[in-house]
Amino acid sequence: MYIIGLTGGIGSGKTMASGAFTHLGVPVIDLDEIAKNLTKKGSKGYNEIVKYFGQHYLNDSGDIDRRKLRADIFLMPKCKNRIESILHPLIYQECLAAIKENDGAAYIVIVIPLLFETNTYQVIINENLLIDCSEELQLKRVINRDLIEKKLAMKIINSQMKRQDKLNKAENIINNEASKDILEKNILYYHENLLKKLGVEI
Ligand code: ATP
Repeated sequence: MYIIGLTGGIGSGKTMASGAFTHLGVPVIDLDEIAKNLTKKGSKGYNEIVKYFGQHYLNDSGDIDRRKLRADIFLMPKCKNRIESILHPLIYQECLAAIKENDGAAYIVIVIPLLFETNTYQVIINENLLIDCSEELQLKRVINRDLIEKKLAMKIINSQMKRQDKLNKAENIINNEASKDILEKNILYYHENLLKKLGVEI
């Protein structure tokens, strides 16, 4: 099974890029999606978070307030460590199960936001693909999408690996500073080249 690790900073366009792979029929495993499912009411991650933090992260309907969780992960290192030690092993197990489910595919894409920051996933992928854009554009996109304050968005961007360090580690780079159409064309180009490299007939 050939595995692409798709990564990029917050708001760089990972989800948009992975949507283009899905459109091409490529199986996509998104670690953020797995994390979302694991924090749904009644799931393993949810139960563990409630066990440790009590009502702290719950809203009125008893669901985990993901915005609050996300903000604390970036603003409070102690909470970050605890939340990550609960969720990361569960996410990894789900990811391995999803890889097995897609056994017959020519290749699969795993969206791994912190690929370069941790070792865990670097050892299971065959090549990485960085979705890249300027930090100014990341900031603009995140503020528009999440309706968060500029200060928090900047803090999140600054807490992540610097753009140039990611570019240095990347084996493949797709720039996402233009339109969605251009992003999709670039993904198609990458996809066709990869299939050729893998000896798969198009
Ligand atoms: P996160 O790390 O927060 O999950 P992400 O890397 O998955 O972010 P996206 O959600 O794909 O980023 O993109 C961030 C925002 O920017 C979204 O609202 C998306 O619609 C928009 N966006 C991404 N790429 C483009 C583009 N090429 N043209 C216009 N808007 C874009």
